[in-house]
Amino acid sequence: MTDTTTATSTAWPDGVIARYLTVAGATVDLTYTDGQVKATCTGERCPWEHREQTEIYYFDSDEEKARKINPVLPAAQRQAQAHAEKCRAMPRPTT
Ligand SMILES: [Zn+2]
Repeated sequence: MTDTTTATSTAWPDGVIARYLTVAGATVDLTYTDGQVKATCTGERCPWEHREQTEIYYFDSDEEKARKINPVLPAAQRQAQAHAEKCRAMPRPTT
């Protein structure tokens, strides 16, 4: 049996929509919180983040939320991809 515990197969945190592996082995995670699609870098002390505003309200149904999140995703994905390609901040070892 081969070891499949790599950055590409470990469980994603709740709410992560998409994830980009950076050149240093950290990840850029796309999440949705408080009306914004947010891209954050998990490289240690990396200050980069990117936000895309949406018009989502707390009473919107799940379908409505998805319909409003979808249009801003490509822009957030482009930013996440661009950052992942050049960020050299490594993740802090967990052990
Ligand atoms: Zn970074």
